[in-house]
Amino acid sequence: MFTTLKNRFEQGHRTCNYPNEKPAVFERYRGKPVIQKDVSFDMVEMCATACPQDAIDRNQKKINMGRCVFCGTCERISDGKFVKFSGDFEIATSQKEHLLTAGDLPSLAEHSKQHFKKLFGRSLQLRQVSAAGCNACEADLNVLATPFFDLARFGINFVASPRHSDGIVVTGPVSRNMKTALLQTYEAVPAPKVVIAVGSCTITGGPFSGSPEITQGLDTILPVDLFIPGCPPHPLTNLHALLTFFK
Ligand code: SF4
Ligand code: SF4
Repeated sequence: MFTTLKNRFEQGHRTCNYPNEKPAVFERYRGKPVIQKDVSFDMVEMCATACPQDAIDRNQKKINMGRCVFCGTCERISDGKFVKFSGDFEIATSQKEHLLTAGDLPSLAEHSKQHFKKLFGRSLQLRQVSAAGCNACEADLNVLATPFFDLARFGINFVASPRHSDGIVVTGPVSRNMKTALLQTYEAVPAPKVVIAVGSCTITGGPFSGSPEITQGLDTILPVDLFIPGCPPHPLTNLHALLTFFK
């Protein structure tokens, strides 16, 4: 007992103060891309050709964050002259087309569906469905339950049964083998319900895009309310999206 109290006293309060204060992210973290529009076409072409995800729109000089895996190749080969990744982790959107960006994103708060705030603002129970994810997206959702992020303090919890939940959080590219299970889970959630797509795999197929074994984007089979890009999205990106959209 004494040891517990001593540890508590020595360690203090470890939960981050987000959203009141933005915690510092790792210096090499790649968040929202910032595009330099006045760069030459050759430079854009070089980056677009090197991009493993075909995520660069040559004509509009924009990056599709729904496809991007934030590998940093375009930033490296353009020496930051075309693309530079900022440390801004607040990159979720409620419209898929807004993920195609030159660095500007509409405020998620303005685009959140107000009735969701009214329905789930005080309590949001979510069922996570890993639909063939590599486990990185899942791991970065899991950490939201740790004392540092302490998701439950906002009234948001992950629950075991879809029947006890208000919506599903989907990760992974939705393989053919997982599609039926995912749709059955969605059906088991009582209405009104929300659908959240986490990670480039879920949003567009990500690194598996084009494979006949996967669904080419969750929105092709379910109505998606919230898109959280990344590979995997940073836990703070997930936290920002949930708080801004529902609180
Ligand atoms: S960071 Fe994104 S846009 Fe740039 S090369 Fe990698 S996948 Fe393509
Ligand atoms: S988006 Fe990236 S991290 Fe998430 S499941 Fe797909 S490959 Fe893994």
